[in-house]
Parts: sequence; structure tokens; C-alpha cells
Amino acid sequence: SKNKGRNRYEFFSYEMEELAIEKRRLIEEIRTALAKNQFELYYQPICESDTNHVQKAEALIRWNHPQRGLVGPAEFIDLAEKNGLIVGIGQWVKSQAVRDAVEFNNKSKTPFQISVNTSPLEIDDGGKWVDQWIEASKRYNLPAHAILIEVTENSLMAPDSAIQFHLKRLDSINVDIAIDDFGVGYSSLAYLQQLDIDILKIDQSFIQNLEKHSNSITLIKAIITMAHNLDVKVVAEGVETQAQYNQLKHLGCDYIQGYLIARPMSKDKFIDTYLESKIG
Ligand code: C2E
Ligand code: CA
Ligand code: CA
Ligand code: CA
Repeated sequence: SKNKGRNRYEFFSYEMEELAIEKRRLIEEIRTALAKNQFELYYQPICESDTNHVQKAEALIRWNHPQRGLVGPAEFIDLAEKNGLIVGIGQWVKSQAVRDAVEFNNKSKTPFQISVNTSPLEIDDGGKWVDQWIEASKRYNLPAHAILIEVTENSLMAPDSAIQFHLKRLDSINVDIAIDDFGVGYSSLAYLQQLDIDILKIDQSFIQNLEKHSNSITLIKAIITMAHNLDVKVVAEGVETQAQYNQLKHLGCDYIQGYLIARPMSKDKFIDTYLESKIG
């Protein structure tokens, strides 16, 4: 009925209002978080499947919220992207990751690489994003290949886009490039011809289906074969079981990342577990 319709509309609009207020509050809180240094980078090990060595880790942002405790990126990255705050967050991530990469390399016996997530909205800013990487790597004396930038396929959609140009500049200063969530994007594979990609990260969804669908095995096999023919290494993400690990190792996957190895952890815990314990 008409009446019912109106009530529903009023209820809906009340909810929308609440949501809008909640969003505005969150935006203000993100600004405060940047100003008060409430963000922190956690690290998750990436394990070489042949040797079991950990010489790579992915940096994953966390927010030490004064009331809510540790907040994950799923709760604020989307909103930050819509409000341009992602640029400020990205700047913070960049300088923290570069400093951590220098520290990890000082504490590790072998070269260590930190992989850093990037939003496409950060990259396409007329070259400032690359300039900041270049500047930070000079300022902190970053070793070559100590940073790997993770971009999603969707950022690389247009064949001759500005983003590709910026990534080529990064490559020329020996920052490596990975394709994150590989296999679920809407992109063609043309960028593989144009860019020097170092790593493909197979999306978690393929790994989760590994035991259920034989299709997954076929796809993973094809991805690994293609990557290796292009001289690109492969990381499997979201590996949770020993059976998945064994299967992936059997298929020739170069690196394993997931809860089976370890959950993301604070920088200090990471150093204790994977770097300093190796000394002596
Ligand atoms: P992502 O880049 O695909 O990162 C992998 C996510 O999977 C992480 O969630 C990680 O904690 C989780 N994960 C790792 N192993 C497993 C596993 O075995 N099982 C399951 N179920 N999950 C696993 P997290 O830390 O919540 O990050 C979510 C997303 O937020 C990331 O997805 C990335 O897109 C984004 N993100 C994280 N840090 C940053 C950052 O510094 N900058 C930007 N722009 N985005 C970030
Ligand atoms: Ca990632
Ligand atoms: Ca390279
Ligand atoms: Ca991913």
C-alpha cells in the first residue's frame, strides 16, 4: 500500500542519515589518525616453497584506534579512497615501509623485500607518487629490490595509461612490481608485455577452491606456466592448509603466503620471529 511505501521510505532515509553521519565521523577520525600517528604496518611472511626461507613479507596497514582497538583496512580503505584521504595514508605507508625495509635488511643475513599495497588512486597523480618513492629511497638509502609494489590488474586496464608510465619509472630505480589478486580483475593481459612484472599473486579465491574444484588446479597450473615462461615468479595467497601447500609446491608455485605460515604480526614480533633469530 501507499502508506507502507511511505513508512519504508522514512525508515530508509533515517538509516541513510545515520550512515552519512557515521561516515563523516569516520573521515574525521582518519584525519586524526594520520595526525596522531595511529596507523601501524603489520607484516605477514611470504615463504619460498623450495627452501622454506622467508625473505619477503607483505606490509598490511592496521589502525590503533583509541576506542575500538586494532582496526583492519577493510573498515577504512574504501572510504579513504572515496575521500582522497588515501593519498595521505599512502604517503605514510611509503615512508614507514621504506624505513622498515632498511631495518629488515640491516637485521637479515640475506636481502629482504617488503611488499607494499597501493591504491590506483594514489598512483595517478602526475608523477608525485613516484617522486615520493624516489625521494624516500634516497633519503633512507634503500637497497635495490628491497621494495615490491603490489598493484591490482584493474589499475593497469588502459594499455598506455599514466599508471603504466609511472610504474616504468619505479622499475628503473629497482623497485619491483607485483600484480595483486591476479585472475579476478577485468584487465586483459596486455600489461604483461609492456611492464617488467616481477611477481604474480594468485588470488585467494583460487586457493580456497583448490580442494573443491579441479578447475582451480588447471587454472593455477596455467598461471604458473605462463608466469615462468615470462620469467615472473608466483605467490599463492591465503594458503591455510597443509594440503593446499603441498599441492601448490607440487605445481611449482614459488612462494606461499597465508595463515598456514603465519598471520600478519607487528613489526617487532616479525623481527623476533624471522630476522634476529637467524643471527648466530
Ligand atoms: P590484500 O592485499 O589481498 O591482502 C591480503 C589479505 O588477506 C590481508 O587482509 C591478509 O591479512 C589476509 N590473509 C592473509 N593470509 C590469509 C589466509 O590464509 N586466509 C585468509 N582468509 N586471509 C588471509 P587485511 O590485512 O585485512 O587487508 C585487506 C586488504 O586491505 C588488502 O588485501 C589490501 O587490498 C588492503 N590493504 C592493506 N594494507 C594496505 C595499505 O597499506 N594500503 C592500501 N592501499 N591497501 C591496503
Ligand atoms: Ca596485497
Ligand atoms: Ca623489475
Ligand atoms: Ca591479494
